[in-house]
Amino acid sequence: VPGWPASVAFATRTTFPPVKKLARADRKRILVTGGAGFVGSHLVDRLMFLGHDVVVLDSFFSGNKTTLAHWVGHPNFELIRGDVVEPILLEVDQIYHLACPASPKAYQRNAVKTLKTSFIGTQNMLGLAKRTKARFLLSSTSEVYGSPTVHPQPESYWGNVNPNGPRACYDEGKRVAEALTYGYARQDGVDVRVARIFNCFGPRMSTDDGRLVSNFVVAALKGEPLQVYGDGQATRSLMFVHDLVTGLIDLMESSHSLTPVNIGSSDEGTVLSWAQTILSTVRSLRAAGEIAPLPPATPDRSEVEFVPAVVDDPPRRRPDTTLAREVIGWDPRWTVQAGLDETVRYFAAQLEMAD
Ligand code: NAD
Repeated sequence: VPGWPASVAFATRTTFPPVKKLARADRKRILVTGGAGFVGSHLVDRLMFLGHDVVVLDSFFSGNKTTLAHWVGHPNFELIRGDVVEPILLEVDQIYHLACPASPKAYQRNAVKTLKTSFIGTQNMLGLAKRTKARFLLSSTSEVYGSPTVHPQPESYWGNVNPNGPRACYDEGKRVAEALTYGYARQDGVDVRVARIFNCFGPRMSTDDGRLVSNFVVAALKGEPLQVYGDGQATRSLMFVHDLVTGLIDLMESSHSLTPVNIGSSDEGTVLSWAQTILSTVRSLRAAGEIAPLPPATPDRSEVEFVPAVVDDPPRRRPDTTLAREVIGWDPRWTVQAGLDETVRYFAAQLEMAD
C-alpha cells in the first residue's frame, strides 16, 4: 500500500496464548455458535488450549467483539459474523450451539427474534450436523423448568412455564429447541447432547446485562444501592463459568445422548444473601488494595435496597446434578467465593477502562 511502511503492510500477529499441539487425527474442527458471548468465549478459549480448530459463528447480537480478540489471526481460529437464522455451509466434526441471547434484558429486547434464533437457528445447526455427521450439543437452560413445583429440579421434571409471559420467548424457545434436537436425533440419527445450564457467572459477563451477579457487582463497585427484587427470599444457585465449560466439554465427549443433563451448582442462596456476599467481597478486595477505592467525591451508598418483584421471576432454582455426576463424572470445582473474587476484579477493570 503506497505510503505504508512494509512492516505494517505485512505485519502478522505472532503472540498468542499457548495451545496444545495435537496430532492431525486427534484435532477436531469445532463450530461454536454464539462463541463471542460470555460462556462461548470461555468455551472457545478451552477448545483452543486443547489444540482443536475452532470456528465461531456469531451475529454480535449480545456478544462482544473484544472477547476473542486474543485469538484473531491464530491459524487454528476463525471468526464468522453471521446469524444462525440463516443456513450456513461448513465442514465440522462437532457443534456447540450456544447462539441465543441469555439475559432477560437482551432476550426481551426482541422477543420474536429470540424465538427465531431458538427455533430456526437450532433447526439450521441441526441440519448442518445432519449433513456433516457432526456431534451436536445444545445449550439449553434451567428456564425450561419455569417456576418449578419440584425442588431441586431433576431432568425428569417437565417444568411449569408461563407460555405467554415476558420470559416465554426464551423459555419456550429453548423448550422447542430441545424438542427439535431430539426430533433430529430420533428421525435422522443425529448424535446429540443437551445441557440444561443453571445460573452461571464470571469474567466477560456484560456489565449492563441486568443479571444478578453483574447488577450487584457493578452497583457495589460504583457505590450505588444493590437492588433486590421482592423480599429477596427467592433462591439462586451460582456456578462459575470455568466449571460450566468443563461440564459442556465433558458432556460433548461422553456417550450420554438420550436425555438432557443439568449442569449447575447446588450452592443455593437467597438473592438477599448473594447481594450481601457480593457487597462484602467488593469491600474486602478494596480494603486489600486489589481494586481501586471509590473516587473521593463519590458517596458510598452501596447497601441493599428492596424494589418491586419482576413478573415470572422464578422463586426457587437448584439443580439436581445426580445425573451429571453419574454419566459424566462432573461436579463444580470452583467455590462461589473464588469465582466472585475473579469476577469482581474483572468488572473493576472494565469500569476503570470505561471511565
Ligand atoms: P450471551 O448473550 O453472552 O452470548 C450469546 C451469544 O450468541 C452472543 O455472542 C450473541 O451475539 C450470539 N447470538 C445471539 N443470537 C444470535 C444469532 N441469531 N445468530 C448468531 N449469534 C447469535 O449469553 P451467554 O450467557 O454466553 O449464554 C450462552 C448460551 O448458554 C445461551 O444459549 C444461553 O441460553 C445458555 N445459558 C446461559 C446461562 C448463563 O447463566 N449464562 C444459563 C442458562 C443457559
